[in-house]
Amino acid sequence: MHAGIGMKIAFVTSEVWPLSKTGGLADYSYSLPKALSEMGHQVDVYTPSYSPVDGEGGEVAVNGMVFTAARETIAGWTAVKLWNRELFGRGKAYGYEDDFRRFGYFAAAAAEALSGGGYDVVHCNDWQSGYIPLLLKGKGCRAKTIFAIHNLEFQGSSDPVILDEIGIDRGNFHMEGVEFYGQASSLKSGIVFADSVVTVSPTYAKEIQTPEFGFGMEGVIRKHSGKLSGILNGIDYGIWDPSTDAETRAHFSDAALQGKGECKSALQREFSLPQVRRPVISFIGRLWRQKGMDILLDALPLIKGGYQLIVLGTGDEQLMKRIERTALHNMSCRAILRYDEKLSHRIYAGSDIFVMPSRFEPCGLGQMISMRYGTVPVVRRTGGLADTVTEYGEAGEGNGFLFDGEGPAELADALNRAIALYSDQTKWRSLVTKCMSEDWSWGASGRRYAELYGSLLS
Ligand code: ADP
Repeated sequence: MHAGIGMKIAFVTSEVWPLSKTGGLADYSYSLPKALSEMGHQVDVYTPSYSPVDGEGGEVAVNGMVFTAARETIAGWTAVKLWNRELFGRGKAYGYEDDFRRFGYFAAAAAEALSGGGYDVVHCNDWQSGYIPLLLKGKGCRAKTIFAIHNLEFQGSSDPVILDEIGIDRGNFHMEGVEFYGQASSLKSGIVFADSVVTVSPTYAKEIQTPEFGFGMEGVIRKHSGKLSGILNGIDYGIWDPSTDAETRAHFSDAALQGKGECKSALQREFSLPQVRRPVISFIGRLWRQKGMDILLDALPLIKGGYQLIVLGTGDEQLMKRIERTALHNMSCRAILRYDEKLSHRIYAGSDIFVMPSRFEPCGLGQMISMRYGTVPVVRRTGGLADTVTEYGEAGEGNGFLFDGEGPAELADALNRAIALYSDQTKWRSLVTKCMSEDWSWGASGRRYAELYGSLLS
């Protein structure tokens, strides 16, 4: 086969939009296969189904656990949905004590289903599909394997009995294999046994080799750094497009911004916020410690000047209670504590400032989506945020505002710089236009993935 042309690619992921989504992995799993299929490659996306499927795609059994398979054409690529009621008919995608077992079996079922499919490349994502490169080697499958790290915090560690259950030889349970501090780790398995390891931004690729960001895995990653690269994610420019978005009140572009004002008024009305000329700051994301919402709440009293704040997110119970209390006492703050895709479009479009105080951020999509909608990012200088946001300067350079450290004062300072600039509407508008002119589409990054696959095959 000629490297790079018309490759047959299997993609394995625990979530993929529009079938399931809890975060950026679902966007990635939709839009990278779409970009690759537009380049002429064939992509099948293997994913668990979280609701029953009709069984036209046959059955796959792992250690007596039967999965029903169903195929569905989505966006140039085909989903191969694997359904097992006991493991996946539970309502949520993650958050169960036996997640390691649910996804261990899923990985084994996916490996079984795809091993005879004649794929050139198998692209696995995060710990949920971490055992696949090793499982495929055990089956003598010759496909090249990629393991993509979207988040190192979750490592799929468990009692090694899982290895026996899903058919991995115990001979692999040692320090150079899948063993990690006495447990079996599917994340480590992916890193050790894949032919290539990718993470989702160049800065995160460096950070995960250090104790601060490595979650204990930094030594393993350093050891395998010869096959590690960082490729920045893109966003799907069809789904995220202010000039055609079906969810927003008005449409706009960098050349015709008045629609953005209408989106802002509509958003203020929707949340009973006064229609005053104050910047609307928004946050959309999973409410975990990673995302730094606690830093934002601590920073609010330090913000100078008027603002309105809209938070859309769900996650940690304690954090959600704290946000609710803040919204109750702060008349300028609204909290919507649920997952709401459509509302996210209205918030991206109607806000002035988008805040991401993440403690770590492998890539981050929110800052790219917000820029696409002319909403200026204020972010912590880490991971993909550091690769996409540059500090605004008086000479017109930069596209947003950054802060270092983890302190509320540093975040408040960055927000205050943004709010101060907002009061100069001429300068603000030119920054908004600048954000909108950035290119975060999948074009360049899709090509880099295709080149990476090609280099493994040649
Ligand atoms: P992560 O993958 O760590 O969750 P990203 O910034 O890469 O973070 O991606 C988050 C994605 O999930 C974005 O598309 C964002 O709009 C979306 N999202 C997160 N929380 C919500 C929510 N509560 N409602 C709607 N969309 C959300």
